[in-house]
Amino acid sequence: MKPTHIEHIGIAVKDLQASIKFYEDILGLKCYGVEEVKDQKVKTAFFKVGQTKIELLESTEPDGPIAKFIEKKGEGIHHIAFAVDDVEASLKGMESKGVQLIDKQPRKGAEEMSIAFLHPKSTGGVLIELCE
Ligand code: ZN
Repeated sequence: MKPTHIEHIGIAVKDLQASIKFYEDILGLKCYGVEEVKDQKVKTAFFKVGQTKIELLESTEPDGPIAKFIEKKGEGIHHIAFAVDDVEASLKGMESKGVQLIDKQPRKGAEEMSIAFLHPKSTGGVLIELCE
């Protein structure tokens, strides 16, 4: 597997509306979509920067993964998502190389993408998402 580009950077935020305002008013980007991903207990907001996106993530539940992340580490970069041609094949290849996976099978993420996460224990502490 060889990623084609960084698809997006996921950023955990406490207040989605306040963060959207920062990215629009200060950075001059345009939010082109807000979407709730029930499965992940998050509300997301997307911005495009060239080929790469910024994905802001606000927890919709106090026990959601983003709420827990912010509790432990505070707001900030949560994950980096690499675009790959085939998530399922990439996962198989990585598993065979001993990489610990969070998702053994691809699942549906925001924007109808097929996604899967690798465990930070196997990646030097970075939560890596593969998406297609
Ligand atoms: Zn993501």
